[in-house]
This record gives sequence, C-alpha cells and structure tokens, in this order.
Amino acid sequence: MHKVLSLKFDNHLVKHLPFQSQKVAPVPLIGSHLVTVSPAMLAELGLTKDDINQTNFNDIVAGKVQAEGGAYHAQVYAGHQFGQFVSQLGDGRAISMGEVIGKNGQRWDLQLKGAGITPYSRMGDGRAVLRSSIREYLASEAMHALGIPTTRALSLVASDLDVHREQIEKGAVVTRVAQSFIRFGHFEYWFHHGKKAELNQLADYCLTEYFPVCRETENPHLAMLETIVKNTAELVAKWQVYGFTHGVMNTDNMSILGLTMDYGPFAFLDDYQPGFICNQSDHTGRYAFDQQPSIGLWNLNALAITFSDWLSTDEIREALSQYEPVFIKTYLELMQQKLGLSRWLETDQKLLGEWLAILQKQGVDYTNAFRLLNTVYLADERNEQCQPLFVLLVSDKAKDHQQLVNWLAKYRLRLQQNDWDDEERIALQNQYNAKYILRNYLAQQAIERAEQGDYSEIEALQNILANPFAEQPQWHKYASPSPEWGKTLEISCSS
Ligand code: AMP
Ligand code: MG
Repeated sequence: MHKVLSLKFDNHLVKHLPFQSQKVAPVPLIGSHLVTVSPAMLAELGLTKDDINQTNFNDIVAGKVQAEGGAYHAQVYAGHQFGQFVSQLGDGRAISMGEVIGKNGQRWDLQLKGAGITPYSRMGDGRAVLRSSIREYLASEAMHALGIPTTRALSLVASDLDVHREQIEKGAVVTRVAQSFIRFGHFEYWFHHGKKAELNQLADYCLTEYFPVCRETENPHLAMLETIVKNTAELVAKWQVYGFTHGVMNTDNMSILGLTMDYGPFAFLDDYQPGFICNQSDHTGRYAFDQQPSIGLWNLNALAITFSDWLSTDEIREALSQYEPVFIKTYLELMQQKLGLSRWLETDQKLLGEWLAILQKQGVDYTNAFRLLNTVYLADERNEQCQPLFVLLVSDKAKDHQQLVNWLAKYRLRLQQNDWDDEERIALQNQYNAKYILRNYLAQQAIERAEQGDYSEIEALQNILANPFAEQPQWHKYASPSPEWGKTLEISCSS
C-alpha cells in the first residue's frame, strides 16, 4: 500500500480569482504508466525519488487520483488566434491541480495536460497524444537548461488509450509546472466581455503575486505593463538567439511572465533560414522564425488595449515603445557572448550581419556553426583547427569559399582586440553556443521508439539536453546536423 504524496498546496489562484475557473476532475487514462520524471523539477518541488516510488505519485500524475489538498480546476481565457479575436477559449485539456509550495517557498501551479475534457474543451476530447507530449516534456526542460524562460515539465505518463487525430494515436499526460500560467488572453477575456470588476481583480492579483515591485510604484498598472513588455522582449530575443521557432504565437499562448508556453509544432532551426515556418498549418508564415520579434510586439498591443481603463494612450504607447530597445539590447548582448567578444563595438553589428549572411547563403546548421567558432584560434600555428568549421560551412556544396576565408580573417583580427586569450574566450563562448538542442529529428526518433514501448531515447535525450553547453564527447552524435528527412518533418497543430 502506497503512502499519500504530501504536497504543500495553497491554491491562491482559485481563492482570489474564483470567477476565472471551474472545478473539474481529471478522467483517468486507460492503462497508464509513468514514462519519466524530470530530476531537476522534482528537486524544485522539494520531492525525492522515494516520493515517486513509495507514494501514490504515479496515480496523481496520471489523473487517476486527486492529490490531497489540491483544488482541481480549468480556467477560461480568450485570445487572438492568427490575428483573429476568439472571445472564448480556455484550458481545454489542461487541468490545474492547484498551487504548491516548493523549495525556497516558491509557489508552483501544476497542470495535467491531456487529463480529459473540461468546460472549455469545445469540440476537443481533452486529450494529448504521446507524440506531442514527448515533445513538450523534452522541450520544456531543454529550454530551461538553455536559459530560456519556459514552463517546466515534471513528468510524462503514457497509456493504452486510443486518441483520434489524423491517425489513431495513444493518449499521454504531461504534468507541466509554472509559477503562473496566466496568459495575455486572460486579460483579453475580461476586457472584451466588459467585465471590469473581474479585470480589476485579475490585475490586482497579478500585481500582488507576480509584480510586487510594480505595486509599490506611483502607477502600478503602467509598471506592470512595462514589465510584461520587457519580459516578452527578452523572451523573444532569446528565441532568436538560440534559433527557436514557437509556431503558434497566438495571444492565448503568451505568458505574462514571459515564459515559453504551449509547445505545439515548435522547432529549433536546422539550417539557418530566417523565413523558416515550423507550423504546417501556418500558410502565410505569420509565425515564421523572422516574424517572431514583430509578432511579440503585435501581441503586446493586443494586451495593452486591455489596460486602457487604467492608462492613457500616451502611457500605453510609452510602455510599448520599450519593446524594441529591450529586444535589441538582449539580442546583441547574447550575440556578443556567442561571438566571444569581451566588449561590443559599433562595427560588430556588421561582423555579425556578415556572419549570419554567410550561414544563410551556405544553408548550414545554425547551432553548429556558432558552436564551431570555438575552433578559431588567434595563433597562426593553430589555424588548422578551423577545419571543422570549413567542413560545415563549405561542405560538399563547395559554395563561395572565399567569403568565409575573408570573414574569418576579419574575425581573427577582431579577436585580437579582446581582453581574453583563446582559452578564456572559448570557455566563455561555449556557455552561449549550445552543442546540444532538441532537434526535430532527435525528438522524432525518441517518439518512434516510445510508440514501440521503448523509452530509452527519451531518457538519453533528457540527460544530454540537461547540459546543452557541455562537450559530452560520448554523446557527440546527438550534435549532428539534421539528416534531410529531419528538416522537412511535418508538425501540425493537432496534438
Ligand atoms: P493550443 O493550440 O494547444 O494552444 O490550443 C488552442 C485551444 O484549443 C486551447 O484553448 C486548448 O485548450 C484547446 N484544445 C487544443 N486541443 C484540445 C483537445 N484535444 N481537447 C480540448 N481542447 C483542446
Ligand atoms: Mg494554447
């Protein structure tokens, strides 16, 4: 007989915003079993391996039993989907267990994604398929390890339940975790339904819980909007730096805390193609990689309108005007690290632009090209170390060799102005140029194995991706660029 898992629930959200959610009970998955747990997230919640083995943890994360002290609920929200306002959306297949207090008193909201229908499921079945659940589970923890703000994942449960999509697939549940899952769409819901009291309560709640510093300012709502603008600008800048394409940047998928959330058809860039579209349903490329910065601002505009009862047009404009400078600052600061420069000079923007142009022209792997800058040495006698970079960049396609030779000469000259020697620079640079990312083809291999009941690739990937900047020479093959089939995988929204 298992003990009862002890979680310290405090369920703030349902207490303070009762009108925003409805009580729901998860519908147990048929034939479910635990696939894996994130050790890092487990520790954040103050839990140990014993808690998994000796308590009813497995039943809780499969939605079979409700955790003691939890307040199971689903929330309503609205949102702009592909530019069109949809007045009612909500947690259609994510059931919150409530909020628990983890390590250092941090409050976490735990959601079972794929645990059955809720009042907001519309025509959906409230389920998530194993394929997309593996992607969300691995991506959440991999993004966190890269230093990109994101919702997290605690566990992955698989099952025998048939779920009907384009094909019949098996159902799964990811327990995802965040300090808050509040979206731009929550503000949009109350504002566009003319529910001022509720909108005020939501804003007050966010100020108290998530933006206490703003609460102390002269104009708390302005400070909160400015903070959300900053969070979003920093988030999107990090996506651009690491080559992450979200795929469905609807306002209902935008977090007020600036977390990456609602993983769907996302992808990391393989070849550097700025116009890359990862979502096969996105026919116009609204959410293409290079559109993300402007869509971030578009989404903030949709959010900012909901602040119009509290702020003047000028104040809103002023808050939004901070997006671009914060975005550029964050982007360039990270690019400076990736290029291994101890200072940023005005001319470095050109150096960066030429580098990106070479990557685009040669159609080479974005992540690996940056990582291989760690083979460039100042000392002439070590010059042959650049060989792997040449192999990657000019490869069999044997395009314009000279351009790269010229750029490398410029780059080496520039490195001479650094305050660091090669070793110092490379050590620092390696902390910003990932060696391992969750490439679509790697996720796909793990999915295909898992569909046969073999979870070893999920385990391997989560271990490797927990240290994306470490050399891990024994796992070198996981840093290989995508094979051609992996670059054209079609990932749809139907997950
Ligand atoms: P997403 O594209 O995952 O952000 O989902 C958009 C909206 O559709 C959200 O309100 C989801 O809760 C809802 N939704 C997506 N898939 C399902 C499903 N299988 N069952 C119920 N609701 C769903
Ligand atoms: Mg969503």
